[in-house]
Amino acid sequence: MFNRQTVQLTIQAQPVKLHLVSTGGVTVKTKFREAKRTGLLAMIDFIFDKKFTEWMPIWVLIIEHPEGIFVIDTGENANVNDPGYFKSSGMFANWFDTTQFKFEVKVEEEIGSQLNDLDIPIEKIKAVILTHLHLDHIDGLKYFPSTPVIVNKKEWEKPFGDLPKLYPSWFKPQLVELNQKYDVFESVYYLTKAKDLLLIETPGHTYHHCSLLLKTDQGSIFFAADVCYTQYQIIEEKYSGSNASHKLAKDTYDKIKQFAKKSKLVFLPSHDADASHRLKELKPLFDI
Ligand SMILES: [Zn+2]
Repeated sequence: MFNRQTVQLTIQAQPVKLHLVSTGGVTVKTKFREAKRTGLLAMIDFIFDKKFTEWMPIWVLIIEHPEGIFVIDTGENANVNDPGYFKSSGMFANWFDTTQFKFEVKVEEEIGSQLNDLDIPIEKIKAVILTHLHLDHIDGLKYFPSTPVIVNKKEWEKPFGDLPKLYPSWFKPQLVELNQKYDVFESVYYLTKAKDLLLIETPGHTYHHCSLLLKTDQGSIFFAADVCYTQYQIIEEKYSGSNASHKLAKDTYDKIKQFAKKSKLVFLPSHDADASHRLKELKPLFDI
């Protein structure tokens, strides 16, 4: 549904290749994507909303880094449309996930198929990094039973809206503590020895949601996961109706914008159709 985007950049003059691949499409209620109210009131608004958004991508970012290949999130899988996919998660989850979202995922769009198309063997992947534990970010885990999977320890201990019944039975992520600071960001974990790939806590969507920052010679590539659904939302201070905490979401917007005003930052939310174009053109959040 959404075309793959590959770009070749450099880090300290060494090549680094990025692939932004969409594992199908998702649509949500318009008031789920952008709410006028917060908390429970926002939830009531989107539940009664009859309008769905246009199809949005479910991006996964693959980074061919000098220290190894990293896969950021794993996307959705085709089984999501099986009747009964959500039954094991209980009546509320079954109702919620089959009425508030629609998915369209083909087997050839799953992360395993796309890695195969890119000639990247799963065994060569150094680590899978999860931004948070929502199904459209973890349902591709089935391809990575022997790959280290890294998760923010706090997100694991206090998830929000995850469906553990859908986790693969073998799923035991490597939990990391984000106890470093970087610039405006207070909770960071360095994923590479070169300290150029950072897992950064960007809470709001969930209490300990994370983004990924890759520092390249061409600027920062910021995989924002579900900080917001479109770049417009962070610029215009529009918030999703599904945030775990509006206050944290607001603080996260402020920090990212503060950082992006100081140095060139390409902003890539997981469900933003324009992200692939911005990555290709290296179009920053703010011109500086
Ligand atoms: Zn999410």
